[in-house]
Order: sequence, then C-alpha cells, then structure tokens
Amino acid sequence: MNILGKSLIMLKKYPLCNHCLGRQFALLGYGMENYERGRMIKTILTMEAHMLALSKNKKGIRNLKILATNGFFETAKEILHRMKKRIPSHAPKTCFLCEDRFKIVDELVKRALYELKDYEYTNFLVGIQLPVLVEEREDEFKAEFEVCHGEDIRNEFGRIIGKRIAEHHGKSVEYKRPEVVLLINPVTEEVKLQVNPLYVAGRYRKMVRGIPQSKWLCSHCRGKGCKNCSWTGKMYSESVEEIIEKPFLDFTNGVKASFHASGREDIDARMLGNGRPFVIEIKKSMKRFLDLEKLEKAVNAYAEGKVEVSNLRFASKDVVRKVKKAESAQKEYRVIIEFETKVTAKNLHLIEEKLTKVLIKQRTPMRVLHRRADLTREKYIYEVKIKKLSPKKAEMKIRCEGGLYVKELVNGDEGRTKPSVSEILKGKVAPIELDVLNVIMKD
Ligand SMILES: [Zn+2]
Ligand SMILES: [Zn+2]
Repeated sequence: MNILGKSLIMLKKYPLCNHCLGRQFALLGYGMENYERGRMIKTILTMEAHMLALSKNKKGIRNLKILATNGFFETAKEILHRMKKRIPSHAPKTCFLCEDRFKIVDELVKRALYELKDYEYTNFLVGIQLPVLVEEREDEFKAEFEVCHGEDIRNEFGRIIGKRIAEHHGKSVEYKRPEVVLLINPVTEEVKLQVNPLYVAGRYRKMVRGIPQSKWLCSHCRGKGCKNCSWTGKMYSESVEEIIEKPFLDFTNGVKASFHASGREDIDARMLGNGRPFVIEIKKSMKRFLDLEKLEKAVNAYAEGKVEVSNLRFASKDVVRKVKKAESAQKEYRVIIEFETKVTAKNLHLIEEKLTKVLIKQRTPMRVLHRRADLTREKYIYEVKIKKLSPKKAEMKIRCEGGLYVKELVNGDEGRTKPSVSEILKGKVAPIELDVLNVIMKD
C-alpha cells in the first residue's frame, strides 16, 4: 500500500500529530524532520479529499472530517467550515502515540539549558526515558499497520532535543564519551543532569617523609572522630591525596575527588625523580576549561615543600586503568642500610653480585599482614649498586619490578624474603631510609 493510503487508514483509527504520523515513514527521504513528513502527508490527503468533495464524492467530506479531527489539521477544518459542514464535536484532543508531548519540547530544552548553566562542557548526550506503556503502545501500533520504514519515539525525542541544545550553545552531541548527559522524560517532564567525571593525569613527587599517599582513617573510630585522633577521624593529619585534591576541587568547583596512582610508597619513604604517575578524578566538575599550568602552580604553592606535581594533562577513564595496572612498572629505589658490624668492600661486592638479575621470593611482610593476604610473590631485580657511606652504613640502589618490598629485601623479614641482604651476610641489617627514585613508565 502507498504512503497516503496507509496514512489515511492510520488516521481513521487513531488521532496522530504531525510528528507521530511522519515518524512512521522516518526512513524515507533525508534532510527533513518527521513533523514535516507528517504535515506534507496530511496536506496531500486534504487536497485529495477537497477534490473529491468538490466533485460531490461522499468520501471527500468523510476524509476531510478524519483529517480535521484525528489529524488535527487546520486546513481540513477550514475547508469544512467554508463548505458549511459540521466538524464532529467529539473530536479527540491529544495524539494517541505521544500524548502531545512533542508540544513541550521547547519547555524541556529550556529546562535542560537551565540545568547546564553552571557547567563548562563541549559535548553532551541526551538520554530519553519513557514509560514502558508509551513504547509498547507504539510497538503495537507499528505491528498493526506493518510499519517498516519508521523509527521509534525515543529516537525522535532524543534527536530533536539534542539538536536544539547543540544549536543553542554551539556544542556537539557525543555518543561514546559525553561530558554531560541529560536524562529527560517527556512524559513526567523530569530533566536530570548527569555530569561525568573530569580526569587529569600527572606525576607527583613527595619530598618529605611521614605523609601517607592516601587518606588514612583512624583505626579506633573509622573516621568518625575520637580522642585517639584528636577528633580528626584520621591517623595522619594530611596525605598526598588530600594535598593534591584541595587545589583541584577549588579550581573545578567539583563535589568530590578520587585519587588513583601507580602503586604507593611507604609513609616514611620519599618519592623522588620524575615522580609517580597518578590520575585525579573530579566528580561533578563545574569547570572543564582549565588552565593546567596555572593549576599546577597552585597545587605546588599549596603543597610547598611536601608534594610537587608535574606534567598535568587531561585524561580519560581508560588512563585510570592504565595507571593502576602500571603498579608493576619498573622502579628504582635508594635505601640507606645499616650493618651490625663494620662492613667490608668484599661483602658489599657480594651483595651486588647476589642481588643483581635475580628473582626474589617474598612472602607478604609481617608489618602489612594485618591488611594483606599472606601470599608469596616473585619479583625480579635488574640491578643492585652499593656505595659505602661509613664503616657501618651504605647506600644501596635497586632497579626492580614494581611491588617489591624493599625494606624486607634488606632485613629478610625473618626468612620470609629470600634472598636478602641479611641472609647473604648472615647478620642483622636494617633499612634506615628509603626513597623511590624513579617509576619507569611512559606517560
Ligand atoms: Zn504525537
Ligand atoms: Zn579516631
């Protein structure tokens, strides 16, 4: 059956607005919207009916009445009026498929723009939510009339609202990774804004000892605040994470930040060299057009003497996964070790030899057993270099696979780490100072 014949049968049975009639033929023709299709179909049907009416064919008036009532078509009403024919008084008021929801698109767009007004963004996506009933009704309608070139109502709402928002602010629609998502329900008229996180990657250095990488909750009160933690809820008053987050939140007006890094150093170890890769995730960031150089300066001024960030750049969610995976990236450490008795050059040489290009078997250190599973890990050491500092002290530099517990490599952890400096020298050896010199990884 042709388009006009099919349309007339649809209109005979159901009241349909221009959008909803045109949508049944959405895949036919390009560069026009469904309401234009619907309007054109109704125009031709009206003209044909007018022609029939003028030649006294009863079908003419009958069809004009259908178009004036179920078609809500003004021209048909006008013709009937001029021909002095009555328009049925029981005429339907709303479209069977959309319940006239396309009429409130302007209002929905206005509300969406209002929700967006405080946020910086370059792209967005519109998600349409509809009651199941509305979608099922259209599915049944399509089945009843064997519609095969139509699109669904959700698509049309999404496209026309998206177009309007894009035109208004010169933004673009992004399907894969939108910065903001508008969830719009044309039936309940709900408009919700979902702001996707902003990610910034960089590297941090920690120049002092005694600061943990992440916020550490008080073990007595679990963060509520008690006598033991002077009502701060924390074991340590500050952390690398908190120091970096503060200026970030100030700059972005974000609600919350999450800090992701490639592994972590001990509280008493410094993180030197090029620093450790991290990604900071800002939730509900109002600002996205950031001057990262300025932000870097602000973080470094705020964290002065303690922490330093560098190489800040915009990132995506995938970078978080990459950074976390890189926990096992090669690392370089520097540790000052102390021997019980005077150490000889021969002994130092022996340590270098026995710990270079060797696989270390390491059971979870006793000091972290309370929070980590008791496992045996194997970590490779590429190179160890030792320099004597005093009769009982030496500086040891280690380049190894990430995740090696360096303190235990020195003291042997009562035989849980093998081989170890302590084991090689058959005596007590203690790690005094530890620094991470480098995290070897491409940014
Ligand atoms: Zn409609
Ligand atoms: Zn506490």
